[in-house]
Amino acid sequence: MIPAKGYAAQNAESDLAPWEFERRDVGAHDVQIEILYCGVCHTDYHLTKNEWFPGLFPMVPGHEIVGRVVAVGGHVQKFTTGDAAGVGVMVDSCRHCENCDNGQEQFCLDGGVLTYNNPDREGKPAYGGYSNTIVVHERYVHVISEKLDLAAVAPLLCAGITTYSPLRKWNVGKGHKLAIVGLGGLGHLGVKFGLAFGAEVTVLSTSESKRKDAKALGAHNFVVTRIPEEAATVTAAFDFILDTVAADHDIAPYLAMLRTNGTYINVGMPAKPLDVSAFTLASGNKTVAGSGAGGMPETQEMLDFCANHNIVSDIELINIKDINTAFERMLKGDVRYRFVIDMKTL
Ligand code: NAP
Ligand code: ZN
Repeated sequence: MIPAKGYAAQNAESDLAPWEFERRDVGAHDVQIEILYCGVCHTDYHLTKNEWFPGLFPMVPGHEIVGRVVAVGGHVQKFTTGDAAGVGVMVDSCRHCENCDNGQEQFCLDGGVLTYNNPDREGKPAYGGYSNTIVVHERYVHVISEKLDLAAVAPLLCAGITTYSPLRKWNVGKGHKLAIVGLGGLGHLGVKFGLAFGAEVTVLSTSESKRKDAKALGAHNFVVTRIPEEAATVTAAFDFILDTVAADHDIAPYLAMLRTNGTYINVGMPAKPLDVSAFTLASGNKTVAGSGAGGMPETQEMLDFCANHNIVSDIELINIKDINTAFERMLKGDVRYRFVIDMKTL
């Protein structure tokens, strides 16, 4: 076994604190990565606090991992020692079901393994990226371009693919009016992808303080949804709405902002079910859709697209000892626009 150290929550009430554990030895198809950076996703908070369901503790969160390969198994083909490498929300799956065969490993029918907070295929707990090293089968490890700032690439591994994938699936682009709800980690990358695909992008935010940033990101329009007169200006305005909000909220006002035949895509994960009126859907042929992260081929496609189009996350690099404060700030929407842990500080 390989000794590892990281930050873990010992239970849903405790802060994250230093903790030592072990990684498996490097198998024939495995890659061992020295973790350099790990993004802080709102999911890390939901899970460590049992906001969705009881977690598996001790829990080492983190699924936006970028680092360098320090060891490879004998059958590894994609990587050699020294390569930059990334790991996202999952680290294993059955590799033979219909979804794995179709490159949608995130929906493995035989029990995919998320990067943390679930047992791996040997029944041992998986531990995430708030740590110094990780061992992963190469299928679930992505090639990272050296052209981009590695710290700012880390959030692409979850926030990036989660916004890229639905915009691609629905062919959002030139001629479309797209709204992004919530200018946080996912939201600001949704804005960047929407613009890169050629859409006219509006940010629907609860924070007046983000108006300048939205414009600096290139958004064409910014609406503070808490101001009724502003919200009224975008009634029936959008072909697509991508909702990235983490908190429980009413989606009816957003459905009213869709044009006829418009599509509302939810990627945020509030704990409470969304309330949707059949009348709202019927009047105007509206679609409500969801999307979960992305499979391995599409994640690599997204990373390559970002390298070619110079897209990275806007980040605030933090010392790992400040992770609990970062969580608190994220809850208040006070992130510009993703915290990334500098693992040198571990
Ligand atoms: P985040 O950085 O905290 O951003 C969420 C944003 O939502 C906030 O910055 C804020 O933006 C807005 N917001 C907060 N409270 C709100 C409220 N009460 N009403 C309306 N807007 C509110 O979070 P994130 O990391 O981007 O993650 C967002 C959600 O996506 C989380 O629930 C996470 O678990 C989920 N997620 C899902 C997937 C997936 O596969 N589907 C993958 C990753 C994450 P404004 O200040 O602009 O309003
Ligand atoms: Zn995430």
